[in-house]
Amino acid sequence: MSETFNALVVNKEEQDFHVNIEKLSFDDLPEGDVTIRVHYSSVNYKDGLASIPDGKIVQSYPFVPGIDLAGTIVTSNDSRYSEGDPVIVTSYELGVSHYGGYSEYARVPGDWVVPLPEGLSFKEAMVFGTAGFTAALSVHQLEQNGTTPEDGDILVTGATGGVGSMAIAMLAKRNYRVVASTGKASEVDYLKKLGAAEVISREEVTPEKLRPLGKQRWAGAVDPVGGKTLAAILSNINYGGTVAVSGLTGGVEVPTTVFPFILRNVHLAGVDSVYCPKELREQIWKRLADGLKPDNLEEMETEVTLQELPETLQEILKGKIRGRTVVKIL
Ligand code: NDP
Repeated sequence: MSETFNALVVNKEEQDFHVNIEKLSFDDLPEGDVTIRVHYSSVNYKDGLASIPDGKIVQSYPFVPGIDLAGTIVTSNDSRYSEGDPVIVTSYELGVSHYGGYSEYARVPGDWVVPLPEGLSFKEAMVFGTAGFTAALSVHQLEQNGTTPEDGDILVTGATGGVGSMAIAMLAKRNYRVVASTGKASEVDYLKKLGAAEVISREEVTPEKLRPLGKQRWAGAVDPVGGKTLAAILSNINYGGTVAVSGLTGGVEVPTTVFPFILRNVHLAGVDSVYCPKELREQIWKRLADGLKPDNLEEMETEVTLQELPETLQEILKGKIRGRTVVKIL
């Protein structure tokens, strides 16, 4: 193990803000039970925010972003893990207030670590990353509320994004008929390749004028968009259907009424990846290696190096990324 290693470091000093590949030493890493040699990380919207001066993600500088990582344990003070174990770390404070995955080595608390399930490579784990994990939790919520493929169509919003793309592929794999909603008319073929049976526009899902109750159209929905879109979806959910809501790309205010809940028994299921309990977290990662793993994972994947990462982080903030971008680290 060399004494220094590469990491992407963001730093803010008075008016200056820098994003550079720098040499770090093991003493620079935060406290933690396990040290991991990172093989892959990934690019999420939150990582984009961590790489700009006013993103409101990073709490102190200098900082190493990267909310996802997969790698091999090199030292462990946690009896559950040993040198050589392949692991995944996502969520908690990783890449937010604790140095993250954009580094050849990372050190984290043992409680954050998930064993890499059999059937999943480091790279595949990061093609999923937080977005795939969140999509899987959303599918889990629909299933827990009893939504089956026989019930009818499932709507997925923000379809070309990380959570949306993943949810389409996973639901299709589970034999649901998926209707994808997108703002990008040019991506219809891509969405159909992922498994969407039908692609509709954002405007069709969210009309200018919202009605408290509309036609019953969806047996369930995976919604990473939120805002007015969520209100519109709720009014079109079938009696007893479920909406799994994970995001706020379309806004935080949801102008809805009680009617979908009290007249149609609609369920609104929250999805939080960050503090998802460890037992469920490990169960979901095992499903990602098996029954929820899309056959066409590579359709969603783009790979960049640590050196190419600063540019990619800008692109995700401009909404230019399709599917999932993994970062090859070491
Ligand atoms: P991406 O940036 O990859 O995708 C978001 C997608 O939403 C876009 O690709 C676009 O898809 C659509 N979109 C963008 N702007 C708007 C808009 N103004 N109105 C409607 N749709 C819009 O993000 P992710 O998929 O990674 O994350 C999605 C959301 O989920 C974010 O809010 C993120 O913070 C949240 N999230 C929550 C997690 C949790 O634990 N709850 C974990 C991970 C993410 P299209 O053009 O196809 O419509």
